[in-house]
Order: sequence, then structure tokens, then C-alpha cells
Amino acid sequence: MTSIEEYAETLHKVAKRYNIDIEEEFAISIERVQMEVRRKVREYLTAKGYKVDKDKVVEIARKVYDKIGFHTESDEIRSILLTRGIDDEKYIEVLIGQAILHELTSLLPDKDKGIVNKTAKCPICGTETDLGYIDTEGNIWLYCPLCGYTWKQSTLSAPVCPYCGLSDKNMIGVLKDKRNPSVVVMLCSNCKHYWILVDERYTKRVPRDFYPMFRRKAEKLLASLPKDFIEAGQ
Ligand SMILES: [Zn+2]
Ligand SMILES: [Zn+2]
Repeated sequence: MTSIEEYAETLHKVAKRYNIDIEEEFAISIERVQMEVRRKVREYLTAKGYKVDKDKVVEIARKVYDKIGFHTESDEIRSILLTRGIDDEKYIEVLIGQAILHELTSLLPDKDKGIVNKTAKCPICGTETDLGYIDTEGNIWLYCPLCGYTWKQSTLSAPVCPYCGLSDKNMIGVLKDKRNPSVVVMLCSNCKHYWILVDERYTKRVPRDFYPMFRRKAEKLLASLPKDFIEAGQ
């Protein structure tokens, strides 16, 4: 996404096309600040000649955060959140950290093609995720909402539960709305966890950073299940 105008336009289109209820104005104002954070990170890395590799993302992110500080951006986010009645310093840090990490992971060399991580834990920043996507070949990828990294986790033909490692296809349920298959919820009958996958075979040109929006669609699907079926998502 190169500009805030492009972001706003795409956000509007995606929300409308997939019938997702989202506060666009709020999302856009946060994104505007996060873009500024990312721009500063890029500038800093270029000036310092840093090369980003997988093992150093978190370390570099900390360095960048300490050096640049992002006081202006933190203040901006604080006032945006306050308009929504949110007073939460931790949330501000997360939003700044998210922008720094997203910028860093976007600079990583090509993704691993094979399955290197079958778990829900992000190999870059350690965050546990319950979100991902199915690519056009039926591979299952997980997406880290904090740093934006994606990794191939398993496949639809041989799915693995990212929480308990169960690989019995008959024990992993697939929940979807046949009339509206853009989102799939997978459920493990062993550990009762679920994970949410955007199905790219049925979506068009949605930037992956928008996938957290699809959580709301998944929640509607989950609401249709008997309560005792699922223990907890996150
Ligand atoms: Zn991560
Ligand atoms: Zn499981």
C-alpha cells in the first residue's frame, strides 16, 4: 500500500464487497500514523545501512524504537484512541510496534517455500496467532497480526492443528458458509481450538494485512455452533 488514499479506497472496497462492518474512519486515521512510523523506519535503516534478516527482526525493531522514539506518533495515536474513549498506553505501544515490525518483515528476503513451522507461534516475533489463509493451491498459511509475517503451516489435504499438532484429517473440522466461502474456520476436536483462514480461492485482491477484518465473519460462523464445542480461540 503506497498511500493513505489507496489504503482508504481499498479498505472501503473490501468492507463493502465482503459485507464486513468496520469503522473506516478510525482504521484510516490509525493507518495514517502507522504509515508515518514505517516511513521513518525505512529512512533510518537506509541511513544506517541495516540488512534485515529473520533472526534479527525483533532486535532491530527494539533498536529502532529506542533510537527514533516515535513520540509524535504516540501522541497522535493517543488522541485518536481517546476520541473512541480508549485510554490504554499498552495499545499505543502495540500499534507503534506493529508498524515497525511490519516494515521490517516486508524487507525480508523471499519466504520459505516449504513447511517449516506447523505451530501457531510466529517464527519471527513469537506471537501466537489464530489467523491465516488458504492459497490458490490449497496450502494453509498462518499470518502474524503483530509483525505481518506469514508461514506455510500445512495443507488442506493434510491439515495439522497448530495448537496440539494433531494431523488426523478426520478430527479437524472445517466450518464455512457455502454461499459466502471467503472465510473458513478450522476446529480441532482434540484440543478444541479453532483458527480462521481467509480462502484466497474465493477472494480477490485483498491485501493480506486486511485479513484481521475477516475475523468478524468467522465469529458469525462460530456463533452458529453449540457453545460446548469450542473451548476458546485466544
Ligand atoms: Zn510475528
Ligand atoms: Zn488441536
